[in-house]
Amino acid sequence: MSALPSPGAPGASAALPASGLEAGLRRLHLPTVRRHYAELERQAAAESWSYPEYLERLVLLEIEHRTETRIARATHQAGFPFLKTLEEFDFTFQKSIQRKALGPYLGPELVSGGRCLILAGPPGVGKTALCIALAYKAIQHGAEARFVTCTDLIHQLTEARSRGQWSAVLARYLEPHVLIIDEVGYLGYGPDAASVLFPVIDQRYLKGNRPVLLTTNKDPQQWGQVLHDPDLSAAILDRLLHRGEVLKLSGRSYRQYRPGQPPPAEPGFPETLSGIPSRDEKAQR
Ligand code: ADP
Ligand code: MG
Repeated sequence: MSALPSPGAPGASAALPASGLEAGLRRLHLPTVRRHYAELERQAAAESWSYPEYLERLVLLEIEHRTETRIARATHQAGFPFLKTLEEFDFTFQKSIQRKALGPYLGPELVSGGRCLILAGPPGVGKTALCIALAYKAIQHGAEARFVTCTDLIHQLTEARSRGQWSAVLARYLEPHVLIIDEVGYLGYGPDAASVLFPVIDQRYLKGNRPVLLTTNKDPQQWGQVLHDPDLSAAILDRLLHRGEVLKLSGRSYRQYRPGQPPPAEPGFPETLSGIPSRDEKAQR
């Protein structure tokens, strides 16, 4: 295959007037090709790329850019309270879980296998961060995700049912490939909690490819008490655990103690000898 003619050489970009090419690329919705074709043409000529090589690089740029845009959009739509990636998660601080235990939840089989995960443990041990990291991996694999606290979910569904908008609001939580339900059991719920939560879990389970990632500070066996319905809670747990598991996290709170930082002062212990925080200490807050 012959190399591309250098820019300005007879025949360079001659077949299609630049304006025609621009218009065509616009029409085909190829913005990245449109932005880069001229600069890549110069590089192609300088490095004697073949025509297919030039075309391939342009196409790859377009795909790369589309992927980045899709990931950014899906991450925004997921409504995460913060973004943490698995690579940013410090497994040397959180020793009660090994990265390899998360293996089954890291690939496309999270969605295709409808795998569910309950992360249980005290506050600050990284439950929410890990769920977000797993959902973000799924987004990178092409999925869409949604984050909701259990309190919000129950509130929205209860409201929807009383306003006759049940199906529309339920659909919001059935459609995303990955659903995070955060903080099951933290707050007291109304008497309808289990009856509105059950259809979400059940219908996602029946679809077979709609995983749910949950965090809880309670032993899941105690959900019957917080959701005010032991039978429905058992049914919820049964569906979650059919293709999923509970992973228990323990240890110190990352909020209170980060590696490399001193542990927090004991409650009631004066912050400085004079009791007035130093400028450095104020700056750290
Ligand atoms: P939990 O949900 O268990 O209460 P979070 O996941 O909200 O805890 O963690 C609290 C904060 O500490 C978050 O900002 C989170 O990103 C961070 N964090 C927790 N554990 C780790 C960890 N092992 N490595 C890095 N950041 C962590
Ligand atoms: Mg949390």
